[in-house]
Amino acid sequence: MSDPLRLALGSGRLPRIGVADSQPDPPAMPTRPARKGTSQARLQRENAHDEIYEKIYTAILEHRLHPGTKLVEERLAEIFGVSRARIREVLARLAHEQVVELIPQRGAYVAKPTIEQARDVFEARRVIEPAVLRRLVETLTPEKLTRLRLHQELEVDARRRDDKRAVIRLSGEFHSLAAELAGNSALARSMRELSVLTCLMIFLYDAPTTTSCRADEHSQIIDAIAKRDAARAEKLMLEHLEHIESSMKMVGDREEVDLAAIFKA
Ligand SMILES: [Zn+2]
Repeated sequence: MSDPLRLALGSGRLPRIGVADSQPDPPAMPTRPARKGTSQARLQRENAHDEIYEKIYTAILEHRLHPGTKLVEERLAEIFGVSRARIREVLARLAHEQVVELIPQRGAYVAKPTIEQARDVFEARRVIEPAVLRRLVETLTPEKLTRLRLHQELEVDARRRDDKRAVIRLSGEFHSLAAELAGNSALARSMRELSVLTCLMIFLYDAPTTTSCRADEHSQIIDAIAKRDAARAEKLMLEHLEHIESSMKMVGDREEVDLAAIFKA
């Protein structure tokens, strides 16, 4: 990978958020050292597992896999050159994160959040994200700030290239990165789930021309974090979420359709 920004991020790839820490099992601290003793084969197996998970996860984030798409076990096993059991494991993990829906007798499908679920996601984000930012400001280090800025540069770069897929993915990842850097693993895990669900919702309910997060809003939030102004960062985040939610066309049972407005010349 030659992109200097990616290299600058340290791992030679995008700051994939807490992949190693987001296994369905709680990442209990005492079990960590024991993992080092696992056999080479087991490690290889886990890595392969993660890689497939990552590929499917990223394809969903980038809208290459659409909500409601059937994920055929046999086909995926063929594509990735692994057993169906391995694919089942990955799908179970994605189902655990609500990204995939497992329907008995029918199989696995990319989740298709309903309007009700979409509203719930925003309600949860309005609670979680201010808490994330408060904690991030409290624990801020120059390194954390650099990670945020580098991520922002990747976003700006993707927008400049008009790479819509990358923009949608990076926009979502900004929020997960903030949660990861805040250092609360429970918040980070929730945020990761909520941001991939938001990506699916954007596909389902957004106007086709828009791409989730507005261009300059993340950088304003980062500026407030840099000044350790938690109140401003929180306020900007709530406004940012309001903008994302209001850009979606979530017309459902709860809302009366205003026929007069529709037919007004
Ligand atoms: Zn955003």
